[in-house]
Amino acid sequence: MNHEHGARYVRVIVDRAIHRELDYSVPENLAGRVGVGSRVRVPFRDKSALATVVTILEHSDAKGIRPIEAIIGEAPALSEHLLELARWIGTYYCCPIETVMRSMLPQVIRRAEVSWKKQLFVQPRCNIHQGEIEKLRRRAPRQAELLEAISKLEKPIRAAELLRQTSLDNQTLRALVKRGLAELREEAVVRDPHGDEQFIATSNLVLNEEQTHALNEVEQALDASENARPILLHGVTGSGKTEIYLQAIRGTLDHGRTAIVLVPEISLTPQTVERFKGRFAEAQDDVAVLHSHLSEGERHDEWHKIHSGRARIVIGARSAVFAPLKNLGLIVVDEEHETTYKQEEAPRYHARDLAVVRAKIEKCVVVLGSATPSLESYHNAAIGKYRLVTLTQRVDQKQMPLIRVVDLRQERRKEKKAAILSEKLSQAIADRLEKREQTILFLNRRGFSTSLLCSNCGEARNCPNCSVALTFHRQPAIAGRLSCHLCGHTAAVPKKCPACGQDALIYHGFGTEKVESTVAQFFPKAVVRRMDADSMTRKEAYRETLRNFRTGKIDILVGTQMIAKGLHFPNVTLVGIINADLALHLPDFRAGERTFQLLTQVAGRAGRGETPGQVFVQTYTPFSPSIQFARHHDFTGYFQQELEFRERCDFPPFKHAILITVRSAHEGRAKLSAETLKRRLSEALPEEFILGDATPAPLEKLQGQFRFHILIRGAAIMRLSRLARETLDKLPFPEDVTVTVDVDPYQLL
Ligand code: ADP
Ligand code: ZN
Repeated sequence: MNHEHGARYVRVIVDRAIHRELDYSVPENLAGRVGVGSRVRVPFRDKSALATVVTILEHSDAKGIRPIEAIIGEAPALSEHLLELARWIGTYYCCPIETVMRSMLPQVIRRAEVSWKKQLFVQPRCNIHQGEIEKLRRRAPRQAELLEAISKLEKPIRAAELLRQTSLDNQTLRALVKRGLAELREEAVVRDPHGDEQFIATSNLVLNEEQTHALNEVEQALDASENARPILLHGVTGSGKTEIYLQAIRGTLDHGRTAIVLVPEISLTPQTVERFKGRFAEAQDDVAVLHSHLSEGERHDEWHKIHSGRARIVIGARSAVFAPLKNLGLIVVDEEHETTYKQEEAPRYHARDLAVVRAKIEKCVVVLGSATPSLESYHNAAIGKYRLVTLTQRVDQKQMPLIRVVDLRQERRKEKKAAILSEKLSQAIADRLEKREQTILFLNRRGFSTSLLCSNCGEARNCPNCSVALTFHRQPAIAGRLSCHLCGHTAAVPKKCPACGQDALIYHGFGTEKVESTVAQFFPKAVVRRMDADSMTRKEAYRETLRNFRTGKIDILVGTQMIAKGLHFPNVTLVGIINADLALHLPDFRAGERTFQLLTQVAGRAGRGETPGQVFVQTYTPFSPSIQFARHHDFTGYFQQELEFRERCDFPPFKHAILITVRSAHEGRAKLSAETLKRRLSEALPEEFILGDATPAPLEKLQGQFRFHILIRGAAIMRLSRLARETLDKLPFPEDVTVTVDVDPYQLL
């Protein structure tokens, strides 16, 4: 690239998916300002389109080349490193690069329509004479009052704020401006989602021996980040991992570099943000927060704060892996095993894996932390690709909670119906209530009753759009209605069975609502609250419930996974897992791993304070390995037996998988397309790849679409991705058939 004359031609990726990169010329007046990663407006077909520059060219052989129209923003939006990452994602995840770009650049940045919020500021004027004010006071006393206030200003103040302080109105201010006695200026103000919160400054804690060792490993890696291996930090809950992240970030800043911390969206609580903002409170601007609840304006401002270099630490959910930090030194992925790091729409990337790839591109350090590492990461450590660092002790030297397994089969024999609270668990709750200690009850299923069955004909009320039963809700929002948790369809409860006409409908199964009401009935004096997606629709409701729980106003908290992760409540000494089997019986090779992780994580909520915790796990399959190993806090044992199983069955981490879903509102066309695709794939793929048949998906119908799956497995994933893409591109599918490709899938339903 010739910097002196600027770019002559550029190659761009247009925002609309067209699978092709296009060349444009650069007019002289724009030449010095365009670079790789710049956002530009270009003529495209007969309209204008937005695009990203990916290459600067001296020459172009393209025919009918047209000039770019404008450059958007001052500096390039994407660094060369991020563009390299984008290309990698496109190849690995088998998806067009335009789609990748859309994920990398938030909509507000791509469109450049939202910009800084401007507000009017009154400028201070120190040269106002008292006489001037007095003269004015006779004719316009209110203006004089305002002028007096302005004469005392030391720095510009928001006009609205000044008027509020003086109880004067806008008209008075305008009059002063007209007289030339006051000056208004428009200035950008930052929309900081945490702007009105105070963060109490904290300083480094003195690390224990294990923590010191772990931090040393990270610091050594920082010193030699050119060829540092990713670090897998396996530390039990409460072993002080977050403290290590905080000190490692401090070290990174001291090296003059920047850091990203990825946290699962669900753990990105005010508490978490506070820990980071508090530690780096000396420069609050240093910490930018990215998550899905930001307004467009807030996202715009946080992004620019990062892009301009003002923020040096980014904490955020999945997509924060794309944060445009320069001079990146460290990426932390907390709870690296969390499946929410996987994006379930194109590009279907996994943020933990991208963190590792980005770290390699930018030559920086990556730390993956978890109490229950994913099998993939643990395996990578076992074969030496990652460096394993372990923390075996809780910081407070507390015992790991005692886990007791309650066999629901025996309870059933006693009670003759599905138990919500076993005798043992309800005794334990009563005991905590007496001691004024708190309880968490966990169930990964929302609603009151999970289905409405006819006891005469056996027919269940199913969703008309999806192949699942409708859930009955009792709470106000959808009071007394049936609802589909997959597509949101709701229906009234019929009086009689619509299939056979008999008055024989019965409610079956239970969700968090019913647990809440059963517990409240059982313990009428206790304060019981529920925390799940239904009860927490308002943003404040979540904070409020947490605050009330922390201050002891709630005795028993019932909830879904929302309460399973990352929260610290010293007074919680009992955790009840109402049904551990829910995840175990899903048709998914990771079902066991997820159950093990969930039990371990939920158990980590118990006994963080002075009193040791207890966990009751209710299950119909008390001897399943995931439950037994979790019960003994035996990660290594679990890992070994699960790895053997995965290897025997050619599942990840030994083989990669690609899941192709073919769907259509027309069942026959979906089936036929899937079968044709399978035949083509079997011609295209060499022997080494294991190609499954086209089969109806476990969730056969979703949102009105019939779904068929093809699962392919193999070790050489880049090759497999490419062959799959080529095969797909050659096949014409009917209009109403959609095909999606998921590399390293986590959703097998
Ligand atoms: P994890 O992230 O592994 O669950 P945390 O970093 O949250 O663990 O630590 C658990 C608790 O212990 C926190 O309240 C934290 O402030 C505290 N803590 C961590 N390290 C130390 C230390 N070295 N000395 C004292 N307290 C610590
Ligand atoms: Zn539905």
